[in-house]
Amino acid sequence: VVRRKLATDTSGTIFALSSGAPPCGVAVIRISGPGSGPALAAIIGGKVSCPLKPRRATVVKLSDPGTSEAIDDGLALWFPAPNSFTGEDVAEFHVHGGPAVVIGALDALSAMAGMRMAEPGEFTRRAFENGKMDLTAAEGLADLVEAETSAQRRQALRQLQGELGKLYESWRERLLKALAHIEAGIDFSDEDLPGGVEAAAAEEVDKLVGEIAAHLKDNRHGERLRSGLLIAIIGPPNAGKSSLLNLLAWRDAAIVSETAGTTRDVIEVHLDLGGYPVIVADTAGLRDVDDMGDGGDEVEAEGIRRARGKAREADLRLAVFDGQAWPQTDPHTAGLVDADTLVVVNKSDLGQPAAPLEVGGQPALAISALTGDGIETFLAAAAERVAGLMGSASSSVMGPALAPALTRARHREALEECRAALKRFLAAAGDDKTPELAAEDLRLAARALGRITGRIDVEDVLDAIFRDFCIGK
Ligand code: GDP
Repeated sequence: VVRRKLATDTSGTIFALSSGAPPCGVAVIRISGPGSGPALAAIIGGKVSCPLKPRRATVVKLSDPGTSEAIDDGLALWFPAPNSFTGEDVAEFHVHGGPAVVIGALDALSAMAGMRMAEPGEFTRRAFENGKMDLTAAEGLADLVEAETSAQRRQALRQLQGELGKLYESWRERLLKALAHIEAGIDFSDEDLPGGVEAAAAEEVDKLVGEIAAHLKDNRHGERLRSGLLIAIIGPPNAGKSSLLNLLAWRDAAIVSETAGTTRDVIEVHLDLGGYPVIVADTAGLRDVDDMGDGGDEVEAEGIRRARGKAREADLRLAVFDGQAWPQTDPHTAGLVDADTLVVVNKSDLGQPAAPLEVGGQPALAISALTGDGIETFLAAAAERVAGLMGSASSSVMGPALAPALTRARHREALEECRAALKRFLAAAGDDKTPELAAEDLRLAARALGRITGRIDVEDVLDAIFRDFCIGK
């Protein structure tokens, strides 16, 4: 597989439509690089140097400098370097968002010498390369653009504002200080140094290991909030799983998307549950493949395999039992009920299920997916479970006093690597024979942290981060 390389030509001038697809009310076209000023001047019919006041919106007439044909009346903004999003000279046009207007402006720009369309994420990449933001902030920006719920937006904004980056940078600085102490020990041996320097370094590293461990032991809530909590609806055929999913989808105005499938496949609906993103997956009825006999076809067997897979993979399970069979429960479904399962007995409109309402020690709620009976209580219980699983991510509402959450597997991997190197260092601490090896472990640990924010060794992670961006950002 050939990985597509992003353009690394950081000197050229790039432009792109930064707003959504036309037609729309207003379209924003952004230009960044040394050619921005001349391009802006040419399009608004001015002289070679840029005539606009910095950072002020000015009403302008846009025309194609090649043909002199009018394109639109709009606004122009001029952000001279370094006070711009990318740190370079940046110009912006706000024009009417018609396809022909946008194409006219983009055509005029691409006809100019030294100008090219931006690659996905290239504006943000330049901002990173010019020291305007670190990698975690760039990721926060991507997450903010993708955020679908208020809790996601809150988390992304904190990361964009640099909270996560600052935490990792502070850890890296402490590590580098400890490293400096160890290296001083190597260079000057004992006679020139005050005693206990290395012991102090080891103590600091020990403290850091504790802080990193606490940060990692987060039940993945930051990652869950970013990607959405996966809820699998499980239950025997005809218990009312699809009806419950439809009810949820219908009740919630914030459905984002629906992955269509056959009734035997897994269907996913993205919902906003109390501000949290959840992905509810309806699964094929759980039935033992062997029970099907000759009639059980391959497709259904595959559906059941997927259902079990989803049920295992899910953060929360919603077990739906058929109230008409109650108190008899489907053994396949009952076998999957655990502490992370919310149990419901459906079809209460046909008669309330007999007490005790519980399966496998988990309390059950009586509902009717048909009439909506009991749904309020059920939704409140589900929202409470989701908030619990999102853990302290929900506490971010309460202010910045709480530590920011790590939001990507990339962060976790680097932190694990950092912690492992620090533990090797501590295990060898006090062993006078290997100060050079000890220093190397600290260096590796600091480098792992630096990879998260992009302070060092970043080339290999750049592509992975910026290729998720859309063009014009
Ligand atoms: P699934 O196989 O578990 O997805 O079950 P469905 O949602 O397809 O429902 C199976 C049958 O039960 C359908 O005929 C539904 O109309 C019916 N059903 C679902 N929920 C209820 C309910 O709360 N009350 C009643 N009376 N019927 C229901």
